[in-house]
Amino acid sequence: TALDSPPLGLILADIVRSHRPRSEAGSIPAGIPHLASPPFDRFGIAVATTSGDVFSAGDADLPFSIQSISKVFTLAMALGADDPGTLWSRVLREPSGTSFNSLVQLEVEHGIPRNPFINSGALVVTDHLTERFPDAAGHVLQFLRDQAGPHGGRQGPFIDEAAAKSELANSSRNLALAHFLKDFGNLHRPAEAVVENYVRQCSIMMSCVEVAKAGLFLARGGRGTNGTVLSRSEAKRIGSIMLTCGMYDAAGEFAYRVGLPGKSGVGGGILVVVPGECSICVWSPRLDSKGNSLAGTAALADLSDRTGWSVF
Ligand code: GLN
Repeated sequence: TALDSPPLGLILADIVRSHRPRSEAGSIPAGIPHLASPPFDRFGIAVATTSGDVFSAGDADLPFSIQSISKVFTLAMALGADDPGTLWSRVLREPSGTSFNSLVQLEVEHGIPRNPFINSGALVVTDHLTERFPDAAGHVLQFLRDQAGPHGGRQGPFIDEAAAKSELANSSRNLALAHFLKDFGNLHRPAEAVVENYVRQCSIMMSCVEVAKAGLFLARGGRGTNGTVLSRSEAKRIGSIMLTCGMYDAAGEFAYRVGLPGKSGVGGGILVVVPGECSICVWSPRLDSKGNSLAGTAALADLSDRTGWSVF
């Protein structure tokens, strides 16, 4: 493994020292008033290894809003409960090259979203999951709690209902996407119900340590904390979609700089998987122009260079 000297704990402490933001550079997400609140210099990183160790540094125990990182977990849940192929008749697996909340390609592709990690695709996945589990967000939350906590006296993952409410009140764009999908026959439940579930799943609060632990099944060929979550090949496929689509229209740049499957959220978190080795979560709230954590991306590029962790 790459866990030679210096030890991982020291590398992470060093990553925090060099990447914790010293200025307010970057942006805060528009449209979700509750996300504007964390101080700009928050920075945490955690690594959960396939051998069962957890290393962390900085603000790795502070809960943050996982936002679109939730799309990885809803996809895993939906595939786990899928009649083979049903979901994949409703959403493609191609990078979009457009912003996460873009509407344009939906018309070109006749209501079939380009991939499950842009908002339109995630709405289809949530719709699919809602057919089996009406409280899809609660179902995802339970999965995350099973994988990651509560632990060590901490409360574990929870839904920030106030944030969900404030986002729901500003959801014109996601409602437009949902209605557009419905017009093409690619949304089965009422648009309002799907968007509400989607927004609540995005409003799940977790720490870096918890996200890293929850994502570990992807590094372990589908094996979670309490047994099999997905088959090895399904876990591989989720990693493939993270690599090609996980950072929206910055997926190519992220693959170039980090060389690992990742999924970002506008809360400033990024989940990254090193197959067979570990799962990593970094969090820093200020974003680049594509909605990905500015310091988080730089830190992951540094970490992969220093450890040699890469799928290439
Ligand atoms: N809840 C956010 C939205 O739907 C999630 C976006 C993101 O994290 N990229 O706009």
